[in-house]
Amino acid sequence: MPSRTSPLSGRKALVTGSTSGIGLGIAEALARAGADIVINGLGNPEEIEATRAGLAERHGVRVAFVGANLMQADGVGTLIHDAEAALGSIDILVNNAGIQLVAPIESFPPEKWDAILALNLSAAFHAIRLAFAGMKSRRFGRIINIASAHGLVASPFKSAYVAAKHGLIGLTKVVALEGAELGITANAICPGYVLTPLVERQIDEQAAAHGISREDVVRNVLLAAQPNKTFATVDEIGELTAFLAGPFGGSITGAAYAVDGGWTAH
Ligand code: NAD
Repeated sequence: MPSRTSPLSGRKALVTGSTSGIGLGIAEALARAGADIVINGLGNPEEIEATRAGLAERHGVRVAFVGANLMQADGVGTLIHDAEAALGSIDILVNNAGIQLVAPIESFPPEKWDAILALNLSAAFHAIRLAFAGMKSRRFGRIINIASAHGLVASPFKSAYVAAKHGLIGLTKVVALEGAELGITANAICPGYVLTPLVERQIDEQAAAHGISREDVVRNVLLAAQPNKTFATVDEIGELTAFLAGPFGGSITGAAYAVDGGWTAH
């Protein structure tokens, strides 16, 4: 039986967009389970170095940082190359980096549509495309795409985000089928609302759009469809990711897991 305390010992994981929020929660959970990690994202270099060093120290694993911007043309190529150089391989790929904008379709800025599709969908395609050969050669790979409840159902004013997340779940299913006989699994996780910097920004945007207070936005807008009226946590998303990446996840592939307090049960 695999170790209960370090089920990912010896595995190498890349988590995109892991300098804050859900990605950082995932990096923490994978490191806690014993994996070496490459973190990625944007932000203040000193804060990122403190995050990197803290992860390594708390969990006794190797942690490297690759600061590639995944919206730039060669960003994903640089990330995969530098991550493989840092750790030797990528066994676990978590496509988490994402951005969001809330605006009506008629005034949705086309450049924001392009940017949201580029980061939330195309960057995942490129990362999978480039990491797949290594996984195939080792006959082991775990690909986990952080989609959203908005990959399963829609809300108004989120055209680009909902389109990208639905697309990401479709991509997940295709990769699951292509990897099925190669030891490579692909799954999506679909969080409901998780209180992270991305959602903090949405609270402000929605408060302005609806002309209501932040408290009203949380209860009556964001969590209106989330029946348990509770934000999901980054630790919950992290631990599910670690399970899917772990020794008991081998037969789970092509699935989309809602972690949404019952939202998509409606
Ligand atoms: P966040 O804004 O807190 O973190 C986003 C991360 O992505 C950061 O590390 C940031 O530096 C990085 N990033 C942003 N642009 C980047 C770029 N161009 N290149 C590389 N990295 C970049 O967001 P979050 O709330 O933690 O969201 C993470 C993922 O989870 C996203 O895909 C989001 O759509 C999804 N999600 C979030 C929620 C939620 O309620 N927070 C719900 C469902 C799905």
